[in-house]
Amino acid sequence: MKVIVTGGAGFIGSHLVDELISKGIKVHVLDNLSSGKIEQVNPQANMYVVDICSEDAKNIISYIRPDAVFHLAAQVDVEKSLQNPSHDADVNIIGTINMLEACQKAKVKKFIFASTSAVYGNLNKGIISEDEETVPSSYYGLSKLTAESYIRLFYELYRQNYTILRYANVYGPRQLPKGEGGVVSVFFDRINKGGSISIHGDGKQTRDFIYVHDVVNANIAALDYGAQETIQISTSQSTSINEILSLITEINGIQVTKEFTPPREGDIKHSCLSNKKAQDILKWSPMYSIEAGLKETYFHQTSALDGHEEETND
Ligand code: NAD
Repeated sequence: MKVIVTGGAGFIGSHLVDELISKGIKVHVLDNLSSGKIEQVNPQANMYVVDICSEDAKNIISYIRPDAVFHLAAQVDVEKSLQNPSHDADVNIIGTINMLEACQKAKVKKFIFASTSAVYGNLNKGIISEDEETVPSSYYGLSKLTAESYIRLFYELYRQNYTILRYANVYGPRQLPKGEGGVVSVFFDRINKGGSISIHGDGKQTRDFIYVHDVVNANIAALDYGAQETIQISTSQSTSINEILSLITEINGIQVTKEFTPPREGDIKHSCLSNKKAQDILKWSPMYSIEAGLKETYFHQTSALDGHEEETND
């Protein structure tokens, strides 16, 4: 089997590439390195430095004719989407259409898309299921939701098979201290640098934090299951930003000063996604509790700081 991972030099994509390669699957990576890092790309993958909006990217898909495309390349920063909505739309909407056109022509059997809980916006509901109303409160959420609609229409018009995975807030090793769900890496980064921690709002806002390896396993399950489905990938557990900080300081053994700053525009107060559909359809469930995932993240991060990342084999 051969697959393409767009965004395979990024945080989630690079872990997915590692796992696919460990399963003996031939992997090709398409990434323009705008936020990804070449050092993170498994040396056994074929790396193409290319923009997903380009004709070159389409030509590579036609040439490789992969069995499946995992489409993770995206503009992932909520704040940047508010500052520059047209760039966000170019990458997340036009880039996705470009990939879909190429996949349809190359007769790719499965298009697996990285979507997000940001499609729901600020619903203020206890636990969200996939059929909930979608009212994005950022251009990032809107561009991902629009990309989802294109994917569904490509199926209606051309029978381009797909699975849409709506991830909750993903965290883990290699995450840059910024962008969507970046709060865990931001906190680890600040604590390591010895600065104070600033929290937007009162810190009581909650998120459904999912460890990156669980997201990788859900993507792999989507190779076999979930045709024409939109499925949330989450823990179904809420954790507040204040709780995350306490857990991280406990693991690190370092106390920090907290500073509360005004809430950010477009920020969501509470977000928790049901994973029942993922369990039923993908035969997947998360393996990591928040405590276990944070400990793994800490372990990998300290190994990387000591220069031993290679030995940890994450
Ligand atoms: P990331 O920024 O680490 O990875 C994105 C990758 O896409 C990077 O390697 C970047 O260089 C590449 N890329 C960006 N624009 C590109 C373009 N025009 N052409 C080619 N490559 C391009 O982000 P991530 O957190 O790993 O996110 C991966 C996917 O998961 C994204 O689609 C994101 O929307 C989705 N997602 C992430 C989270 C999260 O919490 N991190 C939550 C929900 C959904």
